[in-house]
Order: sequence, then C-alpha cells, then structure tokens
Amino acid sequence: MLCPRCEQGDIVKVRVVGGEKCLYVCQECEASWFLFEDIGVKPFFDYGNYMESIGRKPLWTELEITFE
Ligand SMILES: [Zn+2]
Repeated sequence: MLCPRCEQGDIVKVRVVGGEKCLYVCQECEASWFLFEDIGVKPFFDYGNYMESIGRKPLWTELEITFE
C-alpha cells in the first residue's frame, strides 16, 4: 500500500532479523507502524529511532521482508 505520509513509498511488512516483532515500514521515508490498521490513522514513528531503542542498527539488512 502507498505510504500516507510521503505518498511515494510502498509500505512493506518486515520482521526484525532474529526477532519476532513485525513492523510496517515505508521503503521511501521509513515511517513505521506496528499495526496495519494503524497506518494513516495513528501517528507514525521513525524506523531508525525504533531500531536504536531496541539496540539494533537502523539498516534494511536488519530486516526481512515478509510477504503476508
Ligand atoms: Zn513514506
């Protein structure tokens, strides 16, 4: 789906590598949400800040894209 923040990027569902947490992240601006139903409804958070808060690097290699 199209990102409601930047209206350019596609939102993908990702899982932090080695973890169980799933996120929805915009590939363009990196706005993120935890729940699909929150996208465009609740405020986004910044993917990089979230990764640092859990002690991970804010890199796409730290994520695996899931296809659900
Ligand atoms: Zn975006």
